[in-house]
Amino acid sequence: MWKAGLERRLDAVRLHPTCGRLEGALREFGSLILPTECVVCELPDNSLCAGCAATLRRATVRPFRAEQGAEALPEAVCGLGAAGPDADGFSPLPVMAAGSYARALSAALLAFKNHGHTDIGRWLQAALAGALHEARWTLCAEAAEVLLVPVPARGASTRRRGYDPLSLLLGGLDRRAELPAGTSVAAAVRIGWRPRTAWTLTSGGRTQKALGRQGRRQNLVGSMEAAPLMRLIRPGRACLIVDDVLTTGATIAETARVLRNAGAVVSGAVVIAATPAPRGKENSSAR
Ligand SMILES: [Zn+2]
Repeated sequence: MWKAGLERRLDAVRLHPTCGRLEGALREFGSLILPTECVVCELPDNSLCAGCAATLRRATVRPFRAEQGAEALPEAVCGLGAAGPDADGFSPLPVMAAGSYARALSAALLAFKNHGHTDIGRWLQAALAGALHEARWTLCAEAAEVLLVPVPARGASTRRRGYDPLSLLLGGLDRRAELPAGTSVAAAVRIGWRPRTAWTLTSGGRTQKALGRQGRRQNLVGSMEAAPLMRLIRPGRACLIVDDVLTTGATIAETARVLRNAGAVVSGAVVIAATPAPRGKENSSAR
């Protein structure tokens, strides 16, 4: 009896015109104390304004090959999608990038990764999906099944952010069935037991940038290990490594090392953004 009375009274409150007004006022107040602005152009009201969202779409609509100039990448599997050896006779692992690490894309990625703007994820997912499809059908089209292996996030970063950006993006694509046909995501590689020393990018005051190609790759060797999901890898299993940004390629190289130790065929890597190749080193075979 008292319950019915309470529900009636609650309904009356919900239906009262001041309730809707109060809700609207609260929302307005919320936007005052928590102002939202476009992470690219700082226009108020949206995390990504319509104009910058369109710029982002245009910047990521044509995935391209980005391995040239990323000096720490591992060698490509012989004849598998490699663009051909460079001047040193080295064929880097093919990398498909959704876009260049330029203004709109870099700002969106940083906001998504480091400032909790997970609402930007859908635009980045669209960009990543395009690059994944391109890589699936140009780098390992002959494989019936391809495993997408994300570069592992450091535990400390995930704890600080409260989420793992790459898993969030791939998980969303997986749930909405937007991954390329014949692919599945498996976090088969994880950060190893000695991350503190291995991930220290400075040694004797030298930064990662100051290290040579060999040094950059060596710097991370041993920092990753097989995760329990590595049991999915049978010898010869085709894999694509997935990362957010390609710079030197050292993290992709370390992920590839662990996968190849388990017998996987690493056909290439897919990134959302690639830092521009040094002048004169752009890949002429890029689409
Ligand atoms: Zn904007």
